[in-house]
Amino acid sequence: MKSSYKLDEARETIDIWRGNRESIGFVPTMGALHKGHLSLIERAKRDNKRIVVSIFVNPLQFNDKNDFDNYPSTLEQDQLLLDEAGVDLLIAPAASEMHPQPMNFAMSVKSISDVYEGQFRPGHFDGVATVVAKLLLLVGPSRVYFGEKDIQQCYVIKRMVEEFHFPNVIEIVETYREASGLAFSSRNTRLSDASKRIAPSMYQNLLRAAKEIRDGSDPATVINVAIEKVAEAAKREAVEFGYDYVELIDQNFKSVAQYSEGLRIVAAWTLDGVRLIDNLSV
Ligand code: AMP
Repeated sequence: MKSSYKLDEARETIDIWRGNRESIGFVPTMGALHKGHLSLIERAKRDNKRIVVSIFVNPLQFNDKNDFDNYPSTLEQDQLLLDEAGVDLLIAPAASEMHPQPMNFAMSVKSISDVYEGQFRPGHFDGVATVVAKLLLLVGPSRVYFGEKDIQQCYVIKRMVEEFHFPNVIEIVETYREASGLAFSSRNTRLSDASKRIAPSMYQNLLRAAKEIRDGSDPATVINVAIEKVAEAAKREAVEFGYDYVELIDQNFKSVAQYSEGLRIVAAWTLDGVRLIDNLSV
């Protein structure tokens, strides 16, 4: 695998593949790679001749400086994993090159950025859309892969690609979970042992809630029961639990009160200050 820390160098490599009309699959990440990332790469390998992965902890998408400063970084280990996974090119640029200062241009995401992740992380989706647009222009992939775990991010990117007539195909890959049901996340490494023990309980309880909603129970009631169960589990482990939202939504991220097809539950919660997100189909 080739590693490029400079954008020009990455472009040179990619230009050769494009010249040969080789299909390029692209997986953008922020590093601290885990099996969830690897599942995106596996999927990309099925559909493309060349695989490009980026590792870039994008400062624009962190509304919380503390979260940015504490974001895990494991570049050497990541490179080994990517090499083993059969990736052709890693792009790991410096922030100063990705976002030359002063920045005069940025994406501005409307309406969808006012709810859920957008509401609780002001500026987050503007930052995501800006860096993804830059990366798509740089890499020019045939297909680009995103994880369903970040379902609202998938929605934002799909809309951006449509509205800006980007030629890239967006592929969404289902959430890769531990046997316990906990979604793999780079932030899991920041959980204490006690938090790790209870982290899966949100998904487990929401899975049960989803079934009860399908079976006709009142969504708000069963979701509240699920939250209460997680709170109790946290209390038993002396872990501080809080949540930003746990809600039933439709495909346009509108909160809904009654069951119909195509709904999801989205959730964001904290365990001793470490913020996790997840979602599942109802
Ligand atoms: P991140 O490094 O957290 O920005 O994630 C990079 C990509 O991997 C995003 O498209 C995420 O949605 C995706 N991803 C993260 N965790 C998982 C997971 N557990 N399963 C599938 N995809 C994931």
